[in-house]
Amino acid sequence: MAEAKIIDGKLMAQEVRENVATGVAFLQQHHGITPGLAVVLVGDNPASQIYIRNKGRATTAAGMKSFEHRFDAGLSEKDLLKLIETLNGDDNVNGILVQLPLPDHIDDTKVISAIAPEKDVDGFHVINTGLLATGGDGLVPGTPLGCLMMVKKYAGSLSGKNALVIGRSNIVGKPMAQLLLKESCTVTIGHSKTRDLKAECLRADILVVAVGVPNLVTGDMVKPGAVVIDVGQNIIPAPEKGEGKTRLVGDVDFDAVKNIAGAITPVPGGVGPMTIACLLKNTLTATCRQQGISLKEDT
Ligand code: NAD
Repeated sequence: MAEAKIIDGKLMAQEVRENVATGVAFLQQHHGITPGLAVVLVGDNPASQIYIRNKGRATTAAGMKSFEHRFDAGLSEKDLLKLIETLNGDDNVNGILVQLPLPDHIDDTKVISAIAPEKDVDGFHVINTGLLATGGDGLVPGTPLGCLMMVKKYAGSLSGKNALVIGRSNIVGKPMAQLLLKESCTVTIGHSKTRDLKAECLRADILVVAVGVPNLVTGDMVKPGAVVIDVGQNIIPAPEKGEGKTRLVGDVDFDAVKNIAGAITPVPGGVGPMTIACLLKNTLTATCRQQGISLKEDT
């Protein structure tokens, strides 16, 4: 059996980032504008700290301004809402991202709703989710946006294809399904209560898995030639690397599925890098819309 093409998320992300940097340079040269992204972190979740650091580096590497606001876990909801109001009104800030999860005493929904929709570069505000659902031009969450770019590159024409998205979260599963529907796929959403996940998978020409369970999708569940996008990020013990060591895996049994799929994303090096690249792309898009400037579609 022919091996699947391995979708190089790092390379694709690099291309997106270069396009963003070109767009930023154009804005600076012709309009005197440098896009700015504000990221807000409350608490000391180690994974969040790494994400924020990587996002900050990627933002400045693309030529944008990065504003970091870090607080200890005791920050009150009122003070966080006050900061968001300030950022909403700050002309140097074109995008606002509040790193989730927030501490338990802060209501995520209230905080996301406080972000100005045109600066909501995570695409989580109900205005943006509503625009996505109704076919409008809002800001689309970075992870599904990146997944769609990969699917488009490797699945050819999407119209009429069977797509299965496993996972129905607001940040990945639901917007992913909406994006595939917009591309005229026949979309099914699988989740924890789906009766026969294997049967659903075997029908899918496009399979996007966003669950958080290692090896959920095994070789016998995949239709030959399918494009498989593995969003999952799971840390598992890796005794082969030494005592107490861990490694990052996705939700798909990569070694088995790569002999059956037509194309597959690895973990790491697949969806992850595209998420950050698409956040930068969203910040550029947001800046252009706020300023009424149109750039070429590929930036
Ligand atoms: P979530 O926990 O909010 O949602 C998980 C979904 O999986 C739920 O809708 C649930 O119904 C479904 N599910 C749970 N068990 C299932 C099962 N046995 N069979 C079928 N469906 C099942 O998770 P999320 O925030 O959407 O994240 C999903 C995964 O994607 C996680 O591993 C997360 O770390 C990863 N993630 C990666 C990126 C990235 O940039 N690579 C970004 C976001 C999330």
